[in-house]
Amino acid sequence: MTNGTKSALVTGITGQDGGHLAQLLHEQGYTVYGLVRGQRNPKKAEVEREYPYVELIEGDLTDATSLFRAVEVANPSEIYNLAAVSHVGYSFDNPSLTADVTGKGVLNLLEAVRLTGRSESTRVYQASTSEMFGGLDYNRPGRGYNEQSLFHPRSPYGVAKLYGHWIARNYRESYGMFVSCGILFNHEGERRGLEFVTRKVTNAVARISLGKQDHIVLGDLWPKRDWGYAGDYVRGMWQMMQHSEPDDFVLATGQTHSIEDFLTLAFAEVGIGDWRPYVQQDPRFMRPAEVDILLGDPTKAETVLGWERYVDFPGLVNLMVMHDLEFERSTSR
Ligand code: GDP
Repeated sequence: MTNGTKSALVTGITGQDGGHLAQLLHEQGYTVYGLVRGQRNPKKAEVEREYPYVELIEGDLTDATSLFRAVEVANPSEIYNLAAVSHVGYSFDNPSLTADVTGKGVLNLLEAVRLTGRSESTRVYQASTSEMFGGLDYNRPGRGYNEQSLFHPRSPYGVAKLYGHWIARNYRESYGMFVSCGILFNHEGERRGLEFVTRKVTNAVARISLGKQDHIVLGDLWPKRDWGYAGDYVRGMWQMMQHSEPDDFVLATGQTHSIEDFLTLAFAEVGIGDWRPYVQQDPRFMRPAEVDILLGDPTKAETVLGWERYVDFPGLVNLMVMHDLEFERSTSR
């Protein structure tokens, strides 16, 4: 901690949520440290430009000694573990790396906290995910998954995250550490990577409307997701860390929409009523096992934490398309 202010260490600082969270923590007066991976990581310059107040520390979730050093340097009151191999499709091609980073990386971080004597002084947020539910044992039709629902992950990513979730809970129960898991349903926005379907669509819609591209190639269009806005979700993470007790919370909107629904709203934003002539499908973007439907029930986070969302589904699509239109207008490529 610096000068009596709170300090936070954020892993995954270069990702979508890392950016939103860094901004929120900075506004709350924290000293913000971010863990960045590897030599000459091009995303490091991006963070330095967009979030100049973040102090970067080099480290990797698979390298336990680097985490010990990061924890010593930052001496954080709160750690947010957002780093992961986070793309479901990529995890099918790289299952072993996914297990090392997304699964065992959580253990390495918890050990860094415990073995440096910070079990009582450092609170840890673990980024758990709706992908742990898998959509099969959809045991609460119409109401959505909650903190009591059964897990049945359908991808190497989901399986690795489930290990992270349980080892986090185990450290809470075994060592009395303040470790909370946020089980977050899909959360998107203008900072989402282009490899995720929402941003891939909004970027393509912007480019199609400007005549820079004539179609988009996607995988399956029927899966349904509970899509919210990332800016709302990082506030929920922070609220979990301020709560009196460590616990697990689902963050979701309580509504689910298909990719077709997303396409309809996104194309409508640029005045295109029928998106079908602009969309092709390719098995390349289909998964060996698909999660058919995700719908979450955020009642506990709303009642216990007072968590609120400000952006609804149409607002999310609008915000993303408008952002991408502005960006695509400003570049010639
Ligand atoms: P996920 O829910 O964490 O897997 O988030 P994604 O945005 O990667 O995928 C959401 C859904 O969109 C999944 O059911 C994907 O199979 C489906 N999908 C369809 N076409 C695409 C595509 O071209 N890219 C991605 N990433 N997903 C696609």
